[in-house]
Amino acid sequence: MESKEAKRARLLAKAAEAIDEYLEWEEQNPRPDLTQIEDIALKLRKEFGQEIAQVAIENQAERTPAPGPRCAKCGAEMRYKGKKRTRVESRTGNWDVERGYYYCPKCKERLFPPGPATASE
Ligand SMILES: [Zn+2]
Repeated sequence: MESKEAKRARLLAKAAEAIDEYLEWEEQNPRPDLTQIEDIALKLRKEFGQEIAQVAIENQAERTPAPGPRCAKCGAEMRYKGKKRTRVESRTGNWDVERGYYYCPKCKERLFPPGPATASE
């Protein structure tokens, strides 16, 4: 598992990237209007938020709890089946990440922790 320090370094690098992008933008937009300011602020917030979400998901994917989670359909313990590259769709954007997944042989249900995002907004 990635150490706390390694994660910190990774997130700091991403924050530095966002700050550099802002400073670059500032040079190129000496008199921005409010919409332009909102656009850059939201863009950078999104990029940094994605990195946080990615770290959190990878962190969870590396943990394989025993016993496994319960099948939502039949309640049986699901079996860990290893990692698979999947597309995560969330409010912070979509991206591909390797996630551990579980399988119920009876129902053929699959679960990729932490599961899909709950509907919101
Ligand atoms: Zn089941």
